Amino acid sequence: MEENSVKRLKGVGESRARILASLGIFTLSDLLYHLPRAYLDYSKFTPVDEIRDGETVLVRGTVCCDVQHRQKGKLNIYKFEVIDKEESFGVPRLSVTLFNQKFTAEKIHKGQTLILYGKAAVFGNIIAMDSPDIEFSETTEKGLRPVYSLTDGISQKVMRKTVSEALDICVFVKNGKPEACGGLIKESIPEEIREKYNLLTLAEAFYKIHRPQNEDDIKKARRRLAFEEILIFRLGLSTIKQKMKKQKAAAMKNTFDGGFFQSLLPYKLTAAQKRVITEAVKDMQRPFPMSRVIQGDVGSGKTVVAAALSFYAFKNGFQSAVMVPTEVLAMQHFSDLKPLLEKCKMTVECLTGSTSKKEKDRIKSDLKAGKTDLLIGTHALIESDVEFKNLALAITDEQHRFGVEQRSKLSEKGKKLHPHTLVMSATPIPRSLALIIYGDMDISVIDEMPPGRKKVATFLLPSSENIRLYNYLSGETKKGRQAYIVCPMVEEGENEDIKAVESFTDELRNKYLPGISVEFLHGKMKGKEKDEILKRFVNNEISVLVSTTVIEVGVNVPNATVMIIENAERFGLSQLHQLRGRVGRGNEKSYCFLISDSKNAETLDRMKSLCKTNDGFEISRKDLALRGPGEIFGKRQHGIPEFKIADIASDPKLILDVQECTETIISDPLWFDREENGPLKNRVAEFFANSARQKTLQV
Ligand code: ADP
Ligand code: MG
Repeated sequence: MEENSVKRLKGVGESRARILASLGIFTLSDLLYHLPRAYLDYSKFTPVDEIRDGETVLVRGTVCCDVQHRQKGKLNIYKFEVIDKEESFGVPRLSVTLFNQKFTAEKIHKGQTLILYGKAAVFGNIIAMDSPDIEFSETTEKGLRPVYSLTDGISQKVMRKTVSEALDICVFVKNGKPEACGGLIKESIPEEIREKYNLLTLAEAFYKIHRPQNEDDIKKARRRLAFEEILIFRLGLSTIKQKMKKQKAAAMKNTFDGGFFQSLLPYKLTAAQKRVITEAVKDMQRPFPMSRVIQGDVGSGKTVVAAALSFYAFKNGFQSAVMVPTEVLAMQHFSDLKPLLEKCKMTVECLTGSTSKKEKDRIKSDLKAGKTDLLIGTHALIESDVEFKNLALAITDEQHRFGVEQRSKLSEKGKKLHPHTLVMSATPIPRSLALIIYGDMDISVIDEMPPGRKKVATFLLPSSENIRLYNYLSGETKKGRQAYIVCPMVEEGENEDIKAVESFTDELRNKYLPGISVEFLHGKMKGKEKDEILKRFVNNEISVLVSTTVIEVGVNVPNATVMIIENAERFGLSQLHQLRGRVGRGNEKSYCFLISDSKNAETLDRMKSLCKTNDGFEISRKDLALRGPGEIFGKRQHGIPEFKIADIASDPKLILDVQECTETIISDPLWFDREENGPLKNRVAEFFANSARQKTLQV
């Protein structure tokens, strides 16, 4: 048996080891990294008569009746009551219900003292708790107890005991200070760094997080573990960046003729756009691949930057590709960029899932022959039979919609030379965070809006205001303006939702907006149909476009001035901001109406914050704090690991410290060669051996 295996613990045999394995726990250190998800304070039980509705509480009381069992279909329901005062008439009772927990229910008897932990509900005189964590203990020992995530077959009590035992094997306390023993905990952060950033040792951190004396212990331990987690991730990305520099790319020899490119445009590029183009052009002149992300708020003009760079690649005799997440967006980019770039003799094509077979074949053979200079499209671009003659610039727009894998597949199309890569993100995030998350890339920011943009006035309305709103809308369309109405979908393309969109559209046509051209657009429609509707919307033949979130990304119709978002509470802040960004693109004042009947104070607050600001950076900061980066960038698509410990949104100081520490480390080429830094070097290598990001970006 391995020294580090959980099986060496008392009470862990084959079957318990299997249960632990299902939680990803195989070794003692896995067990120590199974951090408490909460703590219970055993010096503070909530009296039953003080429990409020919806509160999660810890209660200690006596079972005052026998357990009642009832069966309802497949469900076994067990009920009993608990009191925490002398039994007497009218004493408040906590009514507890368990579902299918036969094993636990059979252990409960009248007169027993239990400690219960769970979410309570109060209706009238009844105080109830469903499926609480139950501890059969008379213990009166005060202090903080860890609460661990569990799975079937293991109780809180057993988990606590198991972790505690592992802790006793790996850590011993000497003169009041926990120290690693037996060599089972591998300290990864060298002393020098721990001292500088005031971090606990790993042994101390484990000890304090599993056996805290007070809140401060928990805080310090979490900080240490979070620091380590982000540092390893960040250093890993730096490694990728350095490897990227060893790849060969096409070095562009010609200078970029900015004056000529400007002369093709109907407007003047902003200073920010020019700066970002210059930054990217410099990258493309080097013999190793550019790896750059452009952050810019919605409407800041990222598309034209992509156009300028593909023009630059063309002038140097190379092909470019722009990959976008939806067909709607591909078609829009195509119709925007084709006329622009044709003026400088470029051939632009568009390839999506719904391009006809014949057309596809033609596009592919032109591409291979080098007749095409810029190919725009959806992930149809990365299909294996799409071959470029000499792809040198791979751009992904709205990067958060793509997995890293898809992104790197596009890079592989470069054949012998690695193309220069550019990703464009419409969810701008604070620089400190961007430095961590995009640690393998250089960052450009478009921090300036094209001139003349007016703020989109935003209002939150209950659905009872719909009739007045549609009246207003009908007035606007008569003035020649256009509007979007967005309906959320549970899942893009679900039939029921589509029916809802269609019948809602009918209702608008017949009841609220008679005589006005109303059409709908949703994800299940064929490319041709979508294209047709969009074209008609662009040409102002359609006044009101009812849509699911397929329009979220990128669509550009400057004459649209009204955005109505139904059930706005179902969207995240960044997404609402994206949707709102579809209006306010022309010279007319624009409006956004968030419709919601939510009564939840937090939700309302969130939406109100959108009414107050149009600044995407501020909104994403808020969104990050509320939902975390995983949610915002789309789960598991972004190459950002779900940080287990670190709450990277809410601790800016930690982020800055890690970034500073990373810079110190990578600026010293010999750092990793020093013996004391070996463990961290190994952790970085280990971490990235398992990470998708490495596999996909190290092409
Ligand atoms: P996003 O950054 O959201 O992708 P787009 O590239 O779609 O923004 O640009 C939004 C609109 O702004 C487009 O209509 C585009 O033509 C216009 N635009 C871009 N740059 C400028 C500029 N410098 N001055 C005026 N309008 C601009
Ligand atoms: Mg865009």
